[in-house]
Amino acid sequence: MSIESKLIKTTCPLCLYGCELPIKVENRGDFILRKNEYNPQSAVNQGRLCARGNAAKVILDHKKRLTSPLFNNKNIDWVIALSQIKRQLKGFSPGEIAITYDINNTLEEITSIFSFAQELRVDLVSRSYLEPEAFFSYTPGEVKYAELKDIEQSKVLLVIGDIFSKIPLISKPILDAKYADRNNRLYYIDSVKTRFAGFANKFLWTKPGTEPLLILGLIAAMGKSAREVLGDKNFIGIRKIMPKIVEICGIVEQDIEEIAQSFSTIPKGVILASMDFGKTDNPLLFSLLAQLLSMVTPGDKMFISPALASVPIGKNGFGEVIERINQNKVKGLINFGNNFPCDYPEITPHLKNLSLFVTTSIFGQSLPITGWTLPVPSLLEKTGTINTLWGKDTIQPLAEPVNGSKHIFDIIEHISSGNESKFKPRIINKSIININDIIGNALDYIETRSVGEAQVSQQKSNGNELIVLGEESAFGYRGIFENNANQLKINPITAQKQDIKSGDSVKLIINDKEKEFIANITPSVPIDAISISVDTSDNRILFPIQIDSITKEVIIPPIKGRLSKVN
Ligand code: SF4
Repeated sequence: MSIESKLIKTTCPLCLYGCELPIKVENRGDFILRKNEYNPQSAVNQGRLCARGNAAKVILDHKKRLTSPLFNNKNIDWVIALSQIKRQLKGFSPGEIAITYDINNTLEEITSIFSFAQELRVDLVSRSYLEPEAFFSYTPGEVKYAELKDIEQSKVLLVIGDIFSKIPLISKPILDAKYADRNNRLYYIDSVKTRFAGFANKFLWTKPGTEPLLILGLIAAMGKSAREVLGDKNFIGIRKIMPKIVEICGIVEQDIEEIAQSFSTIPKGVILASMDFGKTDNPLLFSLLAQLLSMVTPGDKMFISPALASVPIGKNGFGEVIERINQNKVKGLINFGNNFPCDYPEITPHLKNLSLFVTTSIFGQSLPITGWTLPVPSLLEKTGTINTLWGKDTIQPLAEPVNGSKHIFDIIEHISSGNESKFKPRIINKSIININDIIGNALDYIETRSVGEAQVSQQKSNGNELIVLGEESAFGYRGIFENNANQLKINPITAQKQDIKSGDSVKLIINDKEKEFIANITPSVPIDAISISVDTSDNRILFPIQIDSITKEVIIPPIKGRLSKVN
């Protein structure tokens, strides 16, 4: 039997690194075989793929793929679904509708979603991608963004947060740069001691949630160049609170000075920062201060935020959608994306107040949903433009859209009124926040912190509570590929205090929710904290949401919880 085969190349859309993803497709008669190919000439990844990228083709035929529209979790015909949604939409005024979108959209689709909102005269248009990394869309201004070659040629690098769970392959250019010259320096700041700490010249193990404060300390330690950018008043304000910063972060001031000294004297460097779900209580400050650090550092210093995705900013933060639903002002919500609201189970109770809820998804919902779920192709089955760390890139379909799915364009065409707006919508990737406001917020923020209680300080404490941190995995993708979701990591000292041994079954109790885990004792987690995977919805539901008062974006901070042994 002759086997027909063809090679399809696309850009892997599963994180922002933009690896070339070639797949050989073989038609074997009764089935299609897809094999990964590895092209050593590929510019970004030289033929390498991470575990997530290697498993990308699994998404195409995954058994959880949604192949029929659902209404209240039951299959329904496309024609009925679209005509009923269109009819229901007509019953609302524009102010009663919200339109949202997340990461499973090309930039062309996002443009068409904004056009659809314009046509309906809907003003409430938000992104429903609620990961903390979305805060990197807010910027203090003229930040110089690094290209891959800037990382490779760096003489000094500062990594803040677990960037490798987002982009595993970025470790190669970082370590290549570090080992290119023995005088090159690699610094690492995190509240969890990941394996990467062993590669750093210096690891600053800051207390949970104190990363923004430590970055503020670094800004102050830059001295004259920081004073020039921030102005005297801001600079002096930060210098004054330096002792408090050092104490809250649990860091030695000399270590901050050493990093500042390296960054001031070594000419070429990059700052890389990333945030995890359930690990950062002030993602806006984290994002702005990390970018500001690159702006105040002398010499050729650049910034980059390794992330899973970068989604254009909405007209409003998603928190505003929640508020207006709760006030009974918004009665219909249409979301274009993937696996929403299951990725954010804490959002689901708010949706119960809606008369119309429509969402698109590539997988079946893992939670019961009241309303419509419409199957769409994944990015691996689309053509169009996506954002990567290195700019815009195009994707090619690796396969036909899964049976029963419809493209976003088709869905919009069927439910729209046909009154197209004359104006092309403006899609914004970055929003600037004034430096004086950033420093003012940072100083206010530090006022609310106290030593030894830097994180989750506003949450009511109750006895032997521990800080619960979220941990994302390098191979995690919407709970599909992994995972260690039943493991709870705990420091040996904390475990001993609580009489917990490795392998014990433990119950984690957070407010009115609880879940059983298997204890994994490891010194990588800080004392009096525990960490759990946030790759699956049944763990993510343990983290309540908050709304950022400045951007109205949703925040998912760490939370306090109690442990009890299960007999
Ligand atoms: S590093 Fe990112 S782009 Fe590259 S293969 Fe992995 S998920 Fe895909």
